[in-house]
Amino acid sequence: MQRSVFFLLAISGLALASCGRPTAADTLAPAAALSTQTPAAPASQLVNPTAEPTLPPAATPTAMLVPSPTGGPAHTIATDLALDDADVVLYPVPTVYAGDKVTFQLLPHVPETINVNDVNAAIFVDGQQVAGGPLDRRNWNGQAEGVYEWAWDTTGLAGEHTIEIVLDPSDAIQTGDEDATNNRVTMTTTVEVASGQAALDVAATWQTTEINCCIVHVVSDTAAARDLATLLPQLEAAVNQAADRLTVQPSHKIDVYLIDRIVGQGGFAGADMVVSYADRQYAGGGIYELLVHEAAHILDQQFAPRRISFLAEGLAVWVSGGHYKPEDLTQRSAALVAMGRNIPLAQLIDDFYPVQHEVGYLEAAGFVTFLIDRAGWSTFKEFYSDVSADDGPTLSAAVDANLQRYYGITLAQAESDWLAGLKSNPPPPAAIEDLRTTIRYYDVARRYQALYDPTAHYLSAWLPHPTEVRQFGNPADLTRRPKTEMNVTLEVMLVAADTAMRDGDYVRANVILDSVSGILDHNGTIIDPMATSYLGIVRAAAEYGYELHAVELAGGSARAMATQSPDPRLKSLVMEMRGQNWVILSH
Ligand SMILES: [Zn+2]
Repeated sequence: MQRSVFFLLAISGLALASCGRPTAADTLAPAAALSTQTPAAPASQLVNPTAEPTLPPAATPTAMLVPSPTGGPAHTIATDLALDDADVVLYPVPTVYAGDKVTFQLLPHVPETINVNDVNAAIFVDGQQVAGGPLDRRNWNGQAEGVYEWAWDTTGLAGEHTIEIVLDPSDAIQTGDEDATNNRVTMTTTVEVASGQAALDVAATWQTTEINCCIVHVVSDTAAARDLATLLPQLEAAVNQAADRLTVQPSHKIDVYLIDRIVGQGGFAGADMVVSYADRQYAGGGIYELLVHEAAHILDQQFAPRRISFLAEGLAVWVSGGHYKPEDLTQRSAALVAMGRNIPLAQLIDDFYPVQHEVGYLEAAGFVTFLIDRAGWSTFKEFYSDVSADDGPTLSAAVDANLQRYYGITLAQAESDWLAGLKSNPPPPAAIEDLRTTIRYYDVARRYQALYDPTAHYLSAWLPHPTEVRQFGNPADLTRRPKTEMNVTLEVMLVAADTAMRDGDYVRANVILDSVSGILDHNGTIIDPMATSYLGIVRAAAEYGYELHAVELAGGSARAMATQSPDPRLKSLVMEMRGQNWVILSH
């Protein structure tokens, strides 16, 4: 299923590119392209409050609102325009607190024959229309989507509310909407009173710091705000590294948002940079590499505004000196080939994003490294700046034509030379083990995300423009996330697997990944002793108000890093198993 979803996603990506929008690349490229779209000003989506609602809400049975979907919305072939309550997501997730400005994301069933922009929706809260207007687009998995940003201000509105959403309220669509009775959903939602940490989140504000390279935005009382003094020099160094390796002088300061939330793979860049910096960084990755990677995506647009995704991602990894940590990209590419996981270059270039993420990025980076090693940086820079989708009937044909022009070889010759070089230098077994474990780690982490933190998954996420969030929205749009016991347990296990992998302990990393996979396979049932220990540790710490971020488990004892709201500082806990229970020995 994942495959077909990714395939549809790629089509959307190409469509975006071909209509002349900048194809910003990133660790999470489709989202990057998203972020480059200029969102409509929120005001334009609001219906004039004095206007008569096109159709007053009817009294229909109240359904329970499911505020967050259980997974990426399944894209089924719709034959009739329809909406049900599972197609509605209210942001911020997973809970709306009084004071939040709610964004409505509609993911209705819209037959392929209907242009989504021809479908209007009207949103009512307690009988008052708060938003309306056409759906926006088909999103990355081909699903029709309408986003009505910051449409409902819940200040002072704690309690239950009736929400009614009507598709095609004036019944303008006939063909493809034979059954007009399923165009409307009514649901109740509860706006909670924020207390404790939630109250702090609601009261959070943006804090802006200007440094040489960047204008840095963080949300108060987050991990990034706490660690800003160490993050700023890293960011400065990261942008310098990107500028040096790309031989480009930054033309302006970069707006950088460090957000307390995992989004997709950890970051995205369009005109601005958005990078995840959370204590429980379950999508792994080194923050420094991530910063360099995203900075590269911004700076390379100065000389290659039309660059193609395959080359942009490959170059960003080369500029970073590794995807997730310092990596020998040639040796790692050799490992990919030795594993038989590399795919023909033409296929990868033409359809970059459907390919397994780690495989695609590494192969692109390996090939970029090969080209730079072959004829130097300046030749590559000219080549890179010149390749665009217009240079051939396909992207691979465009690369082929430009390789002939700048390197005097065809794509097929370049690929064959590159592979021959890699095969003549077999990688050490540890390089293969590291790559195999990395690929598996991210596959498991993305599966976790789709099931337990779905709005972080880039296929279904609403990724608002950060400047607009700052201006019109809530910091929580970019920070709030589900933190159930299961979320924390699975996330600390993923963090532990990542730590073991970085220490070169692939056996341990894989044992932890086996355990996480087992839980995902069995609907969250925890059976094996290791997972039972992690859950017991998370539970015991929670009794004292600790939220765990990392756990180092060794048999019947453990060390953990934790925060205790409202104090954002990290604390170290020593814990021990006593009988069936875990206890905190020191904190
Ligand atoms: Zn990238």
